[in-house]
Amino acid sequence: MPRIHPLPDLLVSQIAAGEVVERPASVLKELIENSLDAGARRIDVHLEEGGIRLLRIGDDGHGMAPDDLPLALARHATSKIATLEDLEQVASYGFRGEALASIASVARVTLTSRTPDAPHASRLDGGTVGQGDGSAKIFPAAGAPGTTVEVADLYFNTPARRKFLKSAATEYGHCDEAFCRMALANPGVAFALSHNGSARHRYAAGSLERRVRDVLGDDFFAHVRLIDLAAGPLRLNGYAALPAYSKASRSEQYCYVNGRFVRDKLLSHALREAYADVLHGARQPAFVLFLEVDPAAVDVNVHPAKTEVRFRDSRGIHQFVFHAI
Ligand code: ADP
Ligand code: MG
Repeated sequence: MPRIHPLPDLLVSQIAAGEVVERPASVLKELIENSLDAGARRIDVHLEEGGIRLLRIGDDGHGMAPDDLPLALARHATSKIATLEDLEQVASYGFRGEALASIASVARVTLTSRTPDAPHASRLDGGTVGQGDGSAKIFPAAGAPGTTVEVADLYFNTPARRKFLKSAATEYGHCDEAFCRMALANPGVAFALSHNGSARHRYAAGSLERRVRDVLGDDFFAHVRLIDLAAGPLRLNGYAALPAYSKASRSEQYCYVNGRFVRDKLLSHALREAYADVLHGARQPAFVLFLEVDPAAVDVNVHPAKTEVRFRDSRGIHQFVFHAI
């Protein structure tokens, strides 16, 4: 008879990492979300070798107290929710408290953080917490208020996962896409991205119009209609391209629910139906759309990476989006 035993912490995090940390772009998404949750007005991203070798995300958010640095890397530790009621009303990107723990279990993570009133920054050096040996040391460090997270050598200790990574160029492409998704939804925050030392994107804080132009280009913008419709607690706003600007792929389809980029069958279906009479079957519409719903009417805790959601009134949402477009 096989005996049952609890799994060691590190292995539990590595298993969770299978869902949350699919590739460098998923790490990037989690780290940008954390910076946004910290109220950052500026987010700087540096990548090396498609993010496989290094991802470094710096922000000017509220930072962390030195004592909190090891907790940030601990599993199921979060500053964002405390009760089930909080979960049902959640307004932050994060709430599961497992992203950094998962990442730290499959890469070398370094946190440097400073709260606005701290005399200096503090630094927690990579891996030790994730390795579960409890010997994490916190050192004083240089740095402005805010947080910098470095993630080096993704999957260095899980070679089987590492084999699933594609070339640096392909992984960079996914990172670029994740970066643009986050930038589109947060036009009030300045974003910069560099890869192997060369600047790729620099978006100044401004209006949604400015951001959509910066990210998707003037050609996209020249072919869109502004959407802004509200019905009770529902609101849909953003830009939808005219049929003349259709694409061969879904590459310019950005759909957000309460600020979260989602891939949702219901919304895709409503949008496809709305364009059905004006688009040839093989062509794809282009849009950047933000659906706002009462947080209590949507469940975001469906998938570890939170790219799927569940609506309470899915029929109502479908009709609303279809008619708006
Ligand atoms: P979650 O975002 O679900 O809470 P994470 O593992 O992503 O879980 O982060 C754990 C905690 O670390 C967060 O709840 C937050 O308190 C802190 N944290 C992470 N990144 C930052 C950051 N850039 N600025 C300030 N605090 C951060
Ligand atoms: Mg998080």
